[in-house]
Amino acid sequence: MMEHTPLPLTPEAALAAYEGVNLINGQRVAAQAQLDVLNPATMQVLGHAAASGAMETDAAVAAAKAAGADWAALPARARGKLVAAAGRAMLAELETVARLLAMETGKALRTECRGEVTVAADLLEFYGGLGSELKGETIPFNPRILTMTTREPLGVVAAILPWNVPLVLMMLKIAPALVAGNTVVVKASEEAPFATLLAAEVVMSHLPDGVLNVVCGTGADCGAALTAHEDVAKITFTGSEAAGETVYSAGAKKIIPVSLELGGKSPMIICPDANLDKTVAGAISGMRFTRQGQSCTAASRIYVHADLYDDFTARLTGELDRLVIGDPLDEATDVGTIVSTKQAATIARYVAMAEACDGAQVIRCATLPDDAALSPELFMLPTLITDLPDDHPCVTEEIFGPVAVILKWSDYDDVIARANDSRYGLAATVWTTNIATALDATARLNAGYVQVNQNLTIQPNVSYGGFGRSGLGKEASLEAMLEHFTRKKTIVMAFDI
Ligand code: NAD
Repeated sequence: MMEHTPLPLTPEAALAAYEGVNLINGQRVAAQAQLDVLNPATMQVLGHAAASGAMETDAAVAAAKAAGADWAALPARARGKLVAAAGRAMLAELETVARLLAMETGKALRTECRGEVTVAADLLEFYGGLGSELKGETIPFNPRILTMTTREPLGVVAAILPWNVPLVLMMLKIAPALVAGNTVVVKASEEAPFATLLAAEVVMSHLPDGVLNVVCGTGADCGAALTAHEDVAKITFTGSEAAGETVYSAGAKKIIPVSLELGGKSPMIICPDANLDKTVAGAISGMRFTRQGQSCTAASRIYVHADLYDDFTARLTGELDRLVIGDPLDEATDVGTIVSTKQAATIARYVAMAEACDGAQVIRCATLPDDAALSPELFMLPTLITDLPDDHPCVTEEIFGPVAVILKWSDYDDVIARANDSRYGLAATVWTTNIATALDATARLNAGYVQVNQNLTIQPNVSYGGFGRSGLGKEASLEAMLEHFTRKKTIVMAFDI
């Protein structure tokens, strides 16, 4: 291992250290061009990320390729121990990483960012313990011929990240890929590169040089160069449906495996026997209102039985009114900002469409911050929309903002059909105290991640992934490591002795 530059100890030191650089072969390497990264709470330039193109991407893939053979030759448990140690080290850097994340994404430090770093560290520890599970099988083909399968790494993995939960999503990709013996090039999000760079450097400090590399830049330049690279053997992507299609095509051109975690429009069905208090709390956590709804699994279509509809809507409005919107770094803040002007404009466009819809009601909750140090542009109120027809774009399309639609139902079969009437199939929740209803609904809902009476986020050891246009493949579990980061070889051995 080359000697590593010490990790930055403060967010300010990290911003200086990562100004315009990629992490290649264990080193911070300046890129030829840079792009601005804004602090969405102030709209000031926070720093400059590397604007990488084919040249930087080539160097990162070459480093990963060169490191591949030695890394794959290590015993799997030894790889796992290094990854688990990186998880424990991540906790020591929690505050710096979390603050950096809050500064670049606008997510609140207390309600979102610290928790994200904790889950990211936990994922490293979880996968770090799974090295010994990279097992094959013996097959009863012929008692005199040893027939077996083994699992091998794929080679260089390209891991492409969005901005909304970049650290958790990075660990979902790099931890299983590394433990399985692959080397990795991460493509950080152009909106939120700095916490990714710091978290990756924490991991890299436990690994041989070149095993993990990070490049920054736009999707069109850096992302496309990475997915098209002939030495990339696997692509794992989280992001929008549109970019997912492009990335899938790039993989198809080379006939390499691609896993996709894309968008969602997840239904939350509240049955008449549900506990109202729990459904209100569940809607707030499920909609990820403290993350400004910027979540692929956001419970953004809330189907409430007619018996509970008025009470539920009033109680949810009251609870949302209590949320404190403000400076992401302030400990009193529950909700920070939207990530970017582009995202805020998209959200505003959907709300305007609802306002233009006859009979629809748009309920804006809480209050905007009144703080001269903040720029008002990207702060947005949690918003509920009622009385929309089922085919309205706010009901059918992913908004990726703090906007939930509340829809009334009275017939159970009908609400299941309405919930399933979507091109997505990422997540769904059902709220009922009747186990027969829970069993029936979970069987019939067309979603990859179905929960009853709760709205948990990603959990280590629980397979997570969508159906339909929400994506391909699972993450967060042993199955994810085996199915998506290894290839299976069949060996048939006969000796004529
Ligand atoms: P995005 O698709 O714009 O970008 C995601 C990443 O892909 C970025 O790093 C971007 O630079 C890169 N990219 C864009 N075009 C590319 C191309 N042609 N080739 C290679 N890389 C390319 O998404 P975003 O705005 O960063 O994130 C929001 C989206 O992510 C939402 O649609 C959301 O639903 C989705 N998301 C899904 C999950 C999930 O687990 N299903 C989780 C989080 C976010």
